[in-house]
Amino acid sequence: QARQQAQAAALPALSLDGKRLEVAANIGSALEAPGAFSLGAEGVGLFRSEMLYMDRERAPDEQEQFEAYQQVLLAANGKPVIFRTMDIGGDKPLPYLNIPQEENPFLGYRAVRIYPEFADLFRTQLRAILRAGAFGNALLMIPMVHSLDQILWVKQELERVRAQLQSQGLRYAASLPLGIMVEVPSVCYIIDHFCDEVDFFSIGSNDMTQYLYAVDRNNPRVSPLYNPITPSFLRMLRQIVSVAHRHGKWVGICGELGGEPRYLPLLLGMELDELSMSGPRIPAIKSLLRQLDSQACRQLADNACECRSADDIETLLADFAPQED
Ligand code: PEP
Ligand code: MG
Repeated sequence: QARQQAQAAALPALSLDGKRLEVAANIGSALEAPGAFSLGAEGVGLFRSEMLYMDRERAPDEQEQFEAYQQVLLAANGKPVIFRTMDIGGDKPLPYLNIPQEENPFLGYRAVRIYPEFADLFRTQLRAILRAGAFGNALLMIPMVHSLDQILWVKQELERVRAQLQSQGLRYAASLPLGIMVEVPSVCYIIDHFCDEVDFFSIGSNDMTQYLYAVDRNNPRVSPLYNPITPSFLRMLRQIVSVAHRHGKWVGICGELGGEPRYLPLLLGMELDELSMSGPRIPAIKSLLRQLDSQACRQLADNACECRSADDIETLLADFAPQED
């Protein structure tokens, strides 16, 4: 039976009618990588690099980071690995950065917003990722981006760091696809502009849900409202995918939504290109995907976007039977 499971894990993530939907893993450390691949991950869709910075006295240096990133790329054995640059500050404070406590950390000083002040820290991370990138298929992703200026600044820093590595004669990835997390709703209105500057998009549905509805993701009193399966969220998803595809860019989801079997028909129907989830969710998602017909799912997604309530969408989903193989 273990052999059967391993064989099933190795199958490509395709729907019944052969539509591709890459299934990748979210990981928080290099140690998690081999387990994720043995569960059938086709890549790492989100490496939460901030974990390397937490619970310690000072930031990891370039060499330590390089080794961690290289380890993941070697475990990936040519499969893609998306390194998200540090998503710290705000609710993930680091004592050594001395950022004062905030009343509203989720709306505060975090992720890409802190990089200009801590530019050395950011450059060190870019150096480590670029150097590790020479050992595999690495991609770079920036969290919490909301304006084009932020990504232009990042690209300028990347150029600087590349020039520096070049002049030092160090090995580094010559080309490294660059993407952004789509987790701040305003980004949805300027996806076309971002398409001119980045290679891919990954929707952070955890933060996107809280920001789209103004519902705190950690407040139990509003948790019934914290639901990404509503007409507004689905229409937003649809718009992001359609604009990105028109410009030849791919779109994934790396929030919890991506690993929910219940919602897989909808996400396939929305024509997403990749779903990234915690490793243990991968086998069930891949096996369900193999039972789904992408045309039927597309119709389901169209119908869901016309629903007037979350309950109506749930009813549609409950009535939707996967095809049998
Ligand atoms: C998200 O916001 O959906 C996401 C994947 O990032 P995190 O949960 O680490 O904020
Ligand atoms: Mg997030």
